[in-house]
Amino acid sequence: MESNARAILLIGDGMADRPVASLGNRTPLEAADTPNLNRLAREGESGMMDPISPGIRAGSDTGHLAILGYDPYQVYTGRGPFEAAGIGMEVSRGDVSFRCNFSTVDADMAVIDRRAGRITEGTDQLAQAINGLQIEDVTFFFKESVAHRGALVMHGPGLGAKVSDIDPHREGERILEATPLDPQDGASRKTAHLLNQWVRRTYEILKDHPVNLQRYAKGLPPANIVLPRGVGVAPDIDEFDKLHDVVSACVVETGLIRGIARYVNMDLIDVPGATGGLDSDIMAMGQAILTALEDHNFVLCNVKGPDVAGHDGDGEAKVEIIHRLDEMVGLLYENLGEEDVLVVTADHATPCVVKDHSGDSVPIVFWCPTGRVDDVTEFHERAVTRGGLGRIRGVNVMPMITQLMGVQEKFGA
Ligand code: ZN
Ligand code: ZN
Repeated sequence: MESNARAILLIGDGMADRPVASLGNRTPLEAADTPNLNRLAREGESGMMDPISPGIRAGSDTGHLAILGYDPYQVYTGRGPFEAAGIGMEVSRGDVSFRCNFSTVDADMAVIDRRAGRITEGTDQLAQAINGLQIEDVTFFFKESVAHRGALVMHGPGLGAKVSDIDPHREGERILEATPLDPQDGASRKTAHLLNQWVRRTYEILKDHPVNLQRYAKGLPPANIVLPRGVGVAPDIDEFDKLHDVVSACVVETGLIRGIARYVNMDLIDVPGATGGLDSDIMAMGQAILTALEDHNFVLCNVKGPDVAGHDGDGEAKVEIIHRLDEMVGLLYENLGEEDVLVVTADHATPCVVKDHSGDSVPIVFWCPTGRVDDVTEFHERAVTRGGLGRIRGVNVMPMITQLMGVQEKFGA
């Protein structure tokens, strides 16, 4: 089917909320002045969306996977693979990946500092010293990320991801042995067996590394071991463009969402000034979306700020970032054509009163000049309950976009 339509999927991370006392018992979306979002609601069709299913508290990773058309219950075993992909590591289908901390242990393998004094310098050299280790037929790729963090990718045949944690998650306790959660699961037994050896190898290599000798000299805790957690196996899933018959790009701020986008082979677009915090240059992200639309027909954008404000329990900050997101929506609106589609929603709610993700539904609006219009005139949690979309799920979003774009194959004759 020939189509010149383009679509933007704009996700205000954790933007949905519950009533906030300091905002006069309104949600941040209700309290914020949002003329541009309200115009989308007035000219489009709105509703409620459950990112995974009603009541399920989505993470940003599982929420995004669902909205991008992948059932998280089928494809998600842990954030490790997406964390690794997000920092630019090669992650192949079947690899087992972990998020990691550089940590400090004593000679008895008791954890002194889980974050190695929040080390900021020299982690690239430490990572280099342990990257590419080979144990039996498995190669261990390691890369540092921000501060004491990093990621590990185990690449080799017959690996499983159902293993217990090595990180005791408490200081003063000895590191644990990874074990398969099911003793009959040979693939996970192999992972555990090799991972335990690798962790001890990192200690042998790192304890006398020049970076750590300098840290001893300065009285700083050495980064003398790497502790993996958040295990996940890289799922065998279709590339996004193939799945939905689009040419996609993404403008995202956080490593985790970046990792998902990279894993499903969307084009990544960097935006200087997009920090992932409340100070992020959201208008620059809007410009980047418009630039990306010159040679892509689908752009995903995630603005992280609302989630940050929600975790802080700061309703006023959330209102402020929603104002700026609304300005960005205005910019997009001015530049969209007759066939284009703009969808605004959230990947989950992060209510200020909860300070974490909740299982509440999130508002969603579909705007397309040739699409349907309902009676909703404002974009917030309360108003959209009367919308024409009713209550949908995350995995419904992409088919609803591609049918509006006119790029979806008919199911049947
Ligand atoms: Zn999120
Ligand atoms: Zn969050």
